[in-house]
Amino acid sequence: MTLVFVETDETGAVQLTSAEAVTFARTHAATLTSLLPDGGAATSREVSGTPSGSPEGVVVGPLSDAAVDELGRLGVSVIHHLQHPDLEEYSAAAWAQAIVDIAPDSGTLLASGTPRGMELMAHVAVRTGERMAANVIAVDEEGLLRQVYGGTAFERLRLDGELQVLTVAGHACSPEETAPTTPQIYDYELEVTEEDLRTRATRTEAEAADDTSGLSQARAVVGAGRGVGSENGFGEVLELVDHLDGALGVSRVVTGLGWRPHAEQVGQTGSRISPDVYIACGISGAIQHMAGIEGAKTLIAINTDEEATMVQRADYAIIGDLHEVVGAVNEEIRNRRG
Ligand code: FAD
Repeated sequence: MTLVFVETDETGAVQLTSAEAVTFARTHAATLTSLLPDGGAATSREVSGTPSGSPEGVVVGPLSDAAVDELGRLGVSVIHHLQHPDLEEYSAAAWAQAIVDIAPDSGTLLASGTPRGMELMAHVAVRTGERMAANVIAVDEEGLLRQVYGGTAFERLRLDGELQVLTVAGHACSPEETAPTTPQIYDYELEVTEEDLRTRATRTEAEAADDTSGLSQARAVVGAGRGVGSENGFGEVLELVDHLDGALGVSRVVTGLGWRPHAEQVGQTGSRISPDVYIACGISGAIQHMAGIEGAKTLIAINTDEEATMVQRADYAIIGDLHEVVGAVNEEIRNRRG
């Protein structure tokens, strides 16, 4: 059995990253099973009547009709719905124990590589005594392939337990719907111990929305680094963002200096993006920044230093002062659009 931990947002909708994880599980179910001892012969707990290879989902806390519909469209055959008043708010240990309580002895348990998915799968691995692989991006008959060092290197590995516990890196695949199913829902009322509730979320705050958010969905992202010079140096790049109907992404130097909010940071400790085009203005190309833009289809660098890593890695590079170059591009766009 391939079981996916599904995260939902405050509206009850399935998170995009979980939709990716479900798609990954569905696409690779047979290969994941073949990696188990005896080729998964012991993986027997299938619910009768469900399409073979279709993943099962586990949702902790409230389960909305919208989430059930969406999971059905993603090909999930069974939803394990874990409820308890003490599970409504996130608690890593209590949620992990609830998942362990219903997890199969043999099979694959996976989550998306979000902070919550990572934390939960680590707890599950410890509680079940199984091995865990984080940030998996692909799987074949030789094993799992995962990103390490912030996505700058890859590691191939096999987990030797009866239950493979893993997280799927963001953007490892795109969510894909399939022939819709009506998932069977199994409701569980579980025991929750005080010990497991010692650490729990007491409050969740959404980051203040701003006009330049939407990085993960943007088809065009203009990146700005230390090269802009100051917090007043974003005029040209913001105008370009506007022309391209895109989003602004910045380096950590920029957020660290307080020039722009952390929500706009791209990289290992910021957002990972996969736009059609990423235009990096005054960004050197440190590995932690590159980790966030691996998914960009076309990379354009604007930099005064032709030796900068970003320039070396770019599909196209313009060597020059970003204010002049981006200013000229904006002027040309304005002229052409009349
Ligand atoms: P710099 O490295 O200083 O580069 C500035 C560039 O601008 C240079 O290439 C320069 O030639 C160019 N330039 C200067 N003036 C102009 C001009 N007028 N016109 C055109 N070009 C010009 N960084 C991230 O970005 N994201 C992360 O998520 C992240 N996570 C990190 C996590 C850890 C644990 C650590 C240790 C670091 C992390 N960093 C991250 C920081 C990272 O290592 C770099 O320090 C940072 O990315 C550099 O930012 P920068 O490219 O803007 O600045």
